Amino acid sequence: MNIILMGPPGAGKGTQAEFIKKTYPIPHISTGDMFRAAVKQQTPMGLEAKKYMDSGKLVPDEVTIGVVKERLAEPDCANGFLLDGFPRTVQQAVALDEILSGMNGKIDLVLNIDVPDDILFDRMAGRVSCEQCKAVYNTKFKAPKTEGICDQCGGSLIQRADDQPETVKSRLEVYHAQTAPLLDYYSHKGNLQNVDGNRDVNVVFADVQKLMEAL
Ligand SMILES: [Zn+2]
Repeated sequence: MNIILMGPPGAGKGTQAEFIKKTYPIPHISTGDMFRAAVKQQTPMGLEAKKYMDSGKLVPDEVTIGVVKERLAEPDCANGFLLDGFPRTVQQAVALDEILSGMNGKIDLVLNIDVPDDILFDRMAGRVSCEQCKAVYNTKFKAPKTEGICDQCGGSLIQRADDQPETVKSRLEVYHAQTAPLLDYYSHKGNLQNVDGNRDVNVVFADVQKLMEAL
């Protein structure tokens, strides 16, 4: 089973990826990990990617695609894979289809963990963590007993720059602008499945499992 996992920031994609990894014997391939591994193993595309990363430049599409191609050719992908963070654009999706058809394969399922923006906003913009013990709270869903103070150690609770309301809003806007054409692409191909991510993580996973078992 060749699967792509998609979903906006804050939708719980990471949790579902963990569940899938524990339940199915397919490698979880996230773009960040893949780049680090390719650079470390000094693959031809890894060395190419390193040149851009070292000079602080964005890695161009053809190099990213090259790294993905090398990774998918590794033996642990023979029975399938879970792609996470790739493709990000329609051009990358087309390139991925070409790579797979060259290996007599195809994408079987695109799982899109779907959560309404206002809920994502509350999940992220409400998130605070303890400066000292790193415990995580949410002012809306899991508020500390005393505002701004950690229940566990009495440390101060702070908000990451990434979770400031304005930043959250623009992260979601960027995500939707980037992803809408990609969702269209897979929807037309008939392999897009939306999963309601606004439920308990185990209930969400039960749906994910049903879709995977149906393959
Ligand atoms: Zn604490």
